[in-house]
Amino acid sequence: MPRSRHRAGRPYRRAREQMFQLYGDTCHICLHPGAGEADHLVPVSIDGAQPIDPHAMRPAHGANAPCPTCGRKCNTERGAGPVRTPDLGTSRDWYAGP
Ligand SMILES: [Zn+2]
Ligand SMILES: [Zn+2]
Repeated sequence: MPRSRHRAGRPYRRAREQMFQLYGDTCHICLHPGAGEADHLVPVSIDGAQPIDPHAMRPAHGANAPCPTCGRKCNTERGAGPVRTPDLGTSRDWYAGP
C-alpha cells in the first residue's frame, strides 16, 4: 500500500519534524496554534507517489489532537479535498488547473 509510506517510517517522521520546525504549530486550516499533525497539501489518497517533503505538508489539528481554541479536527474535516489557504508557500502550484 503506497498510502502507509507517508504515515509511518523514519523518512516520514523526519519530514514531519522539519515541517514543524519550518512552520511552527499553527494550524494551516483554522490558523490557531497547537497543531500536532502533519497534513499533506496534496492528500496521499490523491497522489500516493508524491515525495516525502516537509514543504508539501502543513501543521494541522487532527482527530487525536483537536484544536484547543475552536475544537475542530481540521485534518479530518478537510478529508481529501483541496487546500483553500492562500498561504501555500511552495514553488509548486498544485491547483493551478481550471
Ligand atoms: Zn486547526
Ligand atoms: Zn482552531
